[in-house]
Amino acid sequence: MGDAVLDSVVIGAGQAGLSASYHLRRRGLSHVVLDADGAPGGAWQHRWDSLSMRDVHGVAALPDSEPPADEAGRANVVVPAYFDRYEREHGLPVLRPIRVDEVTSAGDLLVVRAGDRTWTTRTLVNATGTWSHPFVPRYPGMETFRGEQLHPVAYPGAEHFRGRRVVVVGGGASAVQLLGELAPVTDTFWVTRREPVWRTDDFTPDHGRQAVALVEERVRRGLAPASVVSVTGLVLREQERAAERLGAYVRHPMFVAVEPDGVRMPDGTLESAQAILWATGFRPAVGHLAPLALRSEYGGIRLDGTTAVADRRVQLVGYGPSASTIGANRAGRVAARGVAAWLDREAQSESIASSA
Ligand SMILES: Cc1cc2nc3c(=O)[nH]c(=O)nc-3n(C[C@H](O)[C@H](O)[C@H](O)COP(=O)(O)OP(=O)(O)OC[C@H]3O[C@@H](n4cnc5c(N)ncnc54)[C@H](O)[C@@H]3O)c2cc1C
Repeated sequence: MGDAVLDSVVIGAGQAGLSASYHLRRRGLSHVVLDADGAPGGAWQHRWDSLSMRDVHGVAALPDSEPPADEAGRANVVVPAYFDRYEREHGLPVLRPIRVDEVTSAGDLLVVRAGDRTWTTRTLVNATGTWSHPFVPRYPGMETFRGEQLHPVAYPGAEHFRGRRVVVVGGGASAVQLLGELAPVTDTFWVTRREPVWRTDDFTPDHGRQAVALVEERVRRGLAPASVVSVTGLVLREQERAAERLGAYVRHPMFVAVEPDGVRMPDGTLESAQAILWATGFRPAVGHLAPLALRSEYGGIRLDGTTAVADRRVQLVGYGPSASTIGANRAGRVAARGVAAWLDREAQSESIASSA
C-alpha cells in the first residue's frame, strides 16, 4: 500500500468493477479494487428481501463464468454468493471495506485516498454505481407530512404498510415492481411526472440497443445520464397481474405539494396518505471524483466510450449506458482496454523523452 505506483485502481466491486478487474488482470496490469461494502455483492447485497431472482430482469454472467441460475432464491443472497465465488476463483485483488473519500491529481499520477490510507496510480476505473446515492426530489410541505416517507433503498416489505394508504412516486421499474407487491395488501395511489411508457410485445434486442444508444449519446454530450429503463419502457410481468386487476397501475399526475395527511393534487383535491414511497431513482455516486473536475458545463461527465474526456486517465464503468449488468460487463472490458491504451501512450512518450 502507498509505496508502489499501480497501473490502475478500481473503485467499487459490483458487476462493473469485477469485470474491469478481470480484464485488467488478463492484461497483466497491477491494480487493486477498493470496495466500500463489508462483503461481496455490490448493490445486490442491499436489495430488498422480497426481490427474487424471478423478479430481476436477468443478471448477466461475469466474464468467463456462467450466470447465477437459482430462479427461486433471493437476489440479495444469490448474486452476492456468485460474486464471492467469482472474486475467489479469479483471485481478484479486492480490499474491503474501504470507502474512497477523494481522488486527486498529482502531476502524471492520481492519488486515491480513503481515510488515512492512500494509493498512487497511473489510471483509475470508477465503478461505484448509484445505490449509495438514492434521489428524492424536493416538494413543498414534505417536512410537514405526518406519515412515513422512504426510498426503495429502505423498503421493508409490503407487510410493513398493511392498512396504510401508500402514495408511490416514480415511473421506473422499481415503482412498477413495488406497486405489484403493495397493492394486494394495502391501498396504493401511483403518481408520475410523465405518462409512463409501456413496452409493447414487439420489443426486440434491437430496440434495447437503440435505447442504450440514446443514453450513450447523452453521455457523449456531457449531459447527466438518463436511466436505461426510462428509454426502454416498462413492462408488467405475471407477478404484477393481481395488482393490475386491483387498478394499481392507473397513473395519476404528480402532486403539487405534500401536506400533513396526504398529497395535494393539481386539481386541488387532497389524496390522503399514511406513507409516501419515493421510487424516484438514483444518481451516480461520483462525489469523490470532484477534485478531478470531470463534469461538463451540462452537469454530466462527458465520456468517449468509458474514458472521461476531461481526464483520459479515468474510466467510468456502470455509468449511464453501462448501468445494467450486461452493460457493466462490457464496460469493464472496454475500460481495461482504455487503461492499457493510456499506459502504452505514457510508455511511448517516456521512451521518446529519454532518447531525445
Ligand atoms: C432495484 C434494482 C434492480 C435492478 N435489477 C437489475 C436487473 O435485473 N438486471 C440488470 O442488468 N440490472 C439491474 N439493475 C441495475 C444493475 O443493478 C446495475 O446497473 C448494476 O448491477 C450495477 O453494477 P455496478 O457495478 O455499476 O454498481 P454496484 O453494484 O452498485 O456496485 C458499486 C460498488 O461500489 C462501491 N462503492 C460505492 N462508492 C464507493 C466509494 N466511494 N469507495 C469505494 N467503494 C464504493 C459499493 O460499495 C459497491 O460495492 C437493477 C438496479 C436496481 C436499483
